[in-house]
Amino acid sequence: MSIQNKGKIIIIGAGIAGLSSAFYLVNDGWQVEVLEQNDLGNSCSYGNAGMIVPSHFTPLAAPGVVTQGIRWMFDSKSPFYVKPTLASISWGLKFLKHSNQAHVDRSAANLRDLHLASSKLFNQWATLDGFDFELTQKGILMLFKTEKLGHEEAELAHTARGLGLDVDVLDQQATQALEPNAELDVLGAVHYKCDGHLYPQKLMANLIQYLQNKGVVIHTRHTVSEIEVANHQVKALVANDKKFAADKFVMTGGSWLPQLAKKAGLRVSLMPGKGYSFMHTPVDDSRGLIHSALLLEARVAVTPMNGQIRFGGTMELAPFNNKVNINRVEGIVRAVPDYLPDFKMDIPKVKNIWYGYRPCSPDGLPYLGATKKLDNLIIAGGTGMMGLSLGPIVGHTVAEIANEQKISVNISQYSPDRFQ
Ligand SMILES: Cc1cc2nc3c(=O)[nH]c(=O)nc-3n(C[C@H](O)[C@H](O)[C@H](O)COP(=O)(O)OP(=O)(O)OC[C@H]3O[C@@H](n4cnc5c(N)ncnc54)[C@H](O)[C@@H]3O)c2cc1C
Repeated sequence: MSIQNKGKIIIIGAGIAGLSSAFYLVNDGWQVEVLEQNDLGNSCSYGNAGMIVPSHFTPLAAPGVVTQGIRWMFDSKSPFYVKPTLASISWGLKFLKHSNQAHVDRSAANLRDLHLASSKLFNQWATLDGFDFELTQKGILMLFKTEKLGHEEAELAHTARGLGLDVDVLDQQATQALEPNAELDVLGAVHYKCDGHLYPQKLMANLIQYLQNKGVVIHTRHTVSEIEVANHQVKALVANDKKFAADKFVMTGGSWLPQLAKKAGLRVSLMPGKGYSFMHTPVDDSRGLIHSALLLEARVAVTPMNGQIRFGGTMELAPFNNKVNINRVEGIVRAVPDYLPDFKMDIPKVKNIWYGYRPCSPDGLPYLGATKKLDNLIIAGGTGMMGLSLGPIVGHTVAEIANEQKISVNISQYSPDRFQ
């Protein structure tokens, strides 16, 4: 397709979904502007664990998740919590309906394809001038301490192999051999060699610089407060009392997507899933990790980046709030040395704890596509715990939809209208 001026497109939200969309749209000849309510550097796309996860072909809504979730609800240091509200009950009923094997089976191959396509695009980005975001493709270790988890993970690894993913099941010795610079206290691991990791802050900074060089205007501190709609079209957005008109619009917005959608007369079911992370510098710099890892029983993510290690976890499904729940952060800090005895840490100071809101849909699948109700609006969100990993393919698909091209991945399950 020739690069020509295709018209003007405005994107709401400068997280990974918004910036990746801007990347592909500007390269396809669109005049792109981005409206972001905060300063850059503030969204969920920065402090996450940076994992690229074809291994995550199982949506969050899966068998066993509800029972485990209920058990955790009564432990203040546990990695999971739901605050009962009208919104969370309505979301929870939909979640319950999808937490079954049939849903997992229907979703797995598509999610795999989306992640693998995204992983390829990350590799393309890594070759571009000005891009250096510590892309590492050594795989992720799913570390387990109990026979029960080991057994479940081996079964999942079997399914993953059936889906064509590159996976090894490792005993204690083989796991330790992969991490010669850290002591591991685990029974074993599943090594998803198809996975990888990166440093999100650098990736986002690289994207912003690239887009600005290409003439994309990013308006920070511009909250979209109104969406003007007429004749089945979005006509303009209002932010800071100014009108922003365009030919087409992309709505990302992360965990704020339901509020944004409502302004356009749409209903999107989504809950913010708050998670925490912090950086740790190993005291002895000869000790450290090569792979990113999930400490399975504790649900803690561990990723080496920027010469440090990022630890992250917890999922609080609750309305937005600016509080750091130190009990949950303590849960992470205490769990780590059970797996990685080298990393006995103090609880970080509140100012050093990052939190972000994963945009969680009730069926654990993204919202990606056009809405039947408004001809010129594309929605990209609901990527939950895998939004960084899916970032490039989300943006690539948004551009294909805007260009009215054939879409190269299967998005039939991701309609933003599915819970209207
Ligand atoms: C602890 C933790 C660890 C994680 N680890 C991983 C991981 O390892 N791998 C992975 O793939 N994913 C991970 N995730 C999930 C991932 O970070 C998210 O899925 C992803 O960042 C979502 O990107 P987004 O662009 O959709 O949303 P966001 O990054 O939240 O961006 C949305 C933007 O829209 C803006 N916005 C909202 N409303 C308005 C408005 N009215 N006007 C203007 N702007 C607006 C917001 O300010 C925000 O900047 C993790 C998340 C957490 C919390």
